Amino acid sequence: MKTNELIQLEDQYGAHNYHPLDVVIERGEGVWVWDVEGKKYLDCLSAYSAVNQGHVHPSILEAMTEQAKKITLTSRAFRNDQLPLFYKTLADTTGYEMALPMNSGAEAVETAIKLARKWAYQVKGVPRHEAEIIVCEGNFHGRTITIVTFSSEDLYKQDFGPFTPGFKMVAYGDAKAIEEAITPNTAAVMIEPIQGEGGVLVPPDGYLKTVETICKDNNVLLITDEIQTGLGRTGKMFAAEHEGVRADMTIIGKALSGGFYPVSAVLADTEIMSLFVPGEHGSTFGGNPLGAAVASAALKVLVDEKLIEKANELGEYFMEQLVEIPSPHVKEVRGKGMMIGIELKDTAGGARRFCEALQDRGILCKETHETVIRFAPPLVIDKETIDWTLPQIREVLNME
Ligand SMILES: *Cc1c(COP(=O)(O)O)cnc(C)c1O
Repeated sequence: MKTNELIQLEDQYGAHNYHPLDVVIERGEGVWVWDVEGKKYLDCLSAYSAVNQGHVHPSILEAMTEQAKKITLTSRAFRNDQLPLFYKTLADTTGYEMALPMNSGAEAVETAIKLARKWAYQVKGVPRHEAEIIVCEGNFHGRTITIVTFSSEDLYKQDFGPFTPGFKMVAYGDAKAIEEAITPNTAAVMIEPIQGEGGVLVPPDGYLKTVETICKDNNVLLITDEIQTGLGRTGKMFAAEHEGVRADMTIIGKALSGGFYPVSAVLADTEIMSLFVPGEHGSTFGGNPLGAAVASAALKVLVDEKLIEKANELGEYFMEQLVEIPSPHVKEVRGKGMMIGIELKDTAGGARRFCEALQDRGILCKETHETVIRFAPPLVIDKETIDWTLPQIREVLNME
């Protein structure tokens, strides 16, 4: 079936909760994807950083198919032979003592919220059901009712209330605002080290470090949502490491499975994680042997192929080159590692038409927040491919 037929079917039978570019992808390999017409594109979105390891990475594929032939799901009512190895790999690669596996990112965020609240009641002594969690304007933590409760994006919440109490919102990048919002009932501050969906917003230098200190001084947990920034994307295992910050809990997802299968996790040390007791929380698929095998392989690829170091070096190169491109439309180029955003001026007429023009030239990007084009290719990209994109991007950024 060709592009138009498939689009027509999708629009007729599927809910319209996305506004995708009209490219119908059939196949992918590394940084490249092919549409149903056989046209080849460079993927500069990486499924919102879920395919840091590149599309259909052969060793993750092998782990997946080998495990799928043995057993896929046991439920946590029984143990399986893959989960312990996944835990050990996670601990070795992230430095956190324990983990709790879930599936989607949003579920892991919900898990972290539960754990922070339990910590507030059991350890900090906050009166039951009065815990507060501080979040930032412009955040993106997922789509559940509780999570959209504390979104500042009208579209994500306007018709979905009533909402969940217990959250306070402060400006992003303003550590003092966090300090002022803390009360004796504050359980945690939850933060993205860089706001991806918010438009690749990089907070001022020293912000996260100051927030960490404020949290420590006030007996408040720091939770970093590294679902998008983590696992190498910004040139470190976790973006918080750029400031030497180690959060009490780190939330990961997306690239944890290299794009094969939804796997997410909350990472914390034993002191906090051991607050969960049997029966309090769970997930039918969370920690299943297929997901565990895939995620172990995906983590191994990050390390073995030095993708984190590569993201750091090539990301810096890519950004330097993008900054050099003269354009009447560009307001700012910003980011860290291989997480780069180009913000356009108000007069540019929105980012979408630039994404469509890039699509014509074989580069797939997605606009975020109308005015930002995000460049976040898989971390397996090489310099030659980056150099190929530059004249294309230059042409597009100089359209009428
Ligand atoms: C994508 C994302 C989520 C939500 O993950 P899902 O798997 O879509 O539920 C949460 N936080 C951040 C920072 C994200 O980028």
